[in-house]
Amino acid sequence: MIIKRHKTKEIQIGNIKIGGNNPIAIQSMAKVPTKDYRKTLLQIKNLEKEGCSIVRVAVKDEEDARAISQIKSAMRIPLVADIHFNWKLAICAIKSGADKIRLNPGNIYKRQEIKEVVSAARDYSVPIRVGLNSGSIPKIFRYSIKLRPALKLVKAALDYIKLLEDLNFTNIVVSLKCSNVLDTVEAYREIAQRCNYPLHLGLTASGFSEAGKIKSAVAMGILLSQGIGDTLRVSLTDQPEEEVRIAKYILSSLGLGNFGPEIISCPACGRTEVDIEKIVNELHEKLSALPHPLSAPSLKLAVMGCVVNGPGEAEDADLAIAFGKKEGLLYKNSKPIRKVLSVRAVDELLKEWTKICTMN
Ligand code: SF4
Repeated sequence: MIIKRHKTKEIQIGNIKIGGNNPIAIQSMAKVPTKDYRKTLLQIKNLEKEGCSIVRVAVKDEEDARAISQIKSAMRIPLVADIHFNWKLAICAIKSGADKIRLNPGNIYKRQEIKEVVSAARDYSVPIRVGLNSGSIPKIFRYSIKLRPALKLVKAALDYIKLLEDLNFTNIVVSLKCSNVLDTVEAYREIAQRCNYPLHLGLTASGFSEAGKIKSAVAMGILLSQGIGDTLRVSLTDQPEEEVRIAKYILSSLGLGNFGPEIISCPACGRTEVDIEKIVNELHEKLSALPHPLSAPSLKLAVMGCVVNGPGEAEDADLAIAFGKKEGLLYKNSKPIRKVLSVRAVDELLKEWTKICTMN
């Protein structure tokens, strides 16, 4: 199956472009006060190393907004300033070097204030993300319109977009985040039919650990598979780097990104005569420790517990192993090449892996 992406307007954010035919950008957010620029920068540097494309910081007051210039001078990827309630902070953030600002229509909605922000955004060529959340939907929509929650978000977004367009401003990105999967899917599907601005995907407050990751993967998987989405953030109650790692898994599982080796492993069953879980964990750890594992080509490596599915998976993988009792049969480019002792399997796989990567 080939995913046909929705055609969206191309938007420049600092040194990258989103929308159009550009790759889907992974975003995350610093989780320390922005005014503590050393800690913020440390998190941003870790995110850069993990492969994050765009980072957002919270701007609660003027000190946060001013810290952006110091942070920007030492970072590589574009920075988005997250603004709520106080429109003046948006202008201060723009003047401090923010590459994009996020405005929440739920708390910055007066025409004159938006006009001032638009004027600064235009002067500095900074895009505005119309960033709606189900938790802070504008009051007029929350209480007075009989629409499903997702459609209220869409209506609120379209009204805000119209306001920006009336000010002759179209440097826009849109997000409509809900905390549940079905509302999020409905909101994004609807807005994708109604405008061509790039869409930043995400669930708001998706949760912690497995629950948050699974909810995000389901929602974004559905949308991305339908060609919807130009950037994404997997919001987790976790370290920012984990958000990037999960986003990469989501994109690579749909063939929408190339982030390094993919390990396919069988779930194990009564036929398994080796400890597959231990072997796969060790393999994953050692592969991740290789220099620049993420820049390695996107190759597939299959680890199978027996010969039932081993040869079949080996056909689709660049490298594979199907275990017996004390040894496994190693396959390379669909062909069996040799038997290896199970206790040596990880090292042998890594040896062959390195050869394949060098050849590619
Ligand atoms: S590949 Fe073999 S060991 Fe693994 S789950 Fe399938 S049948 Fe069981």
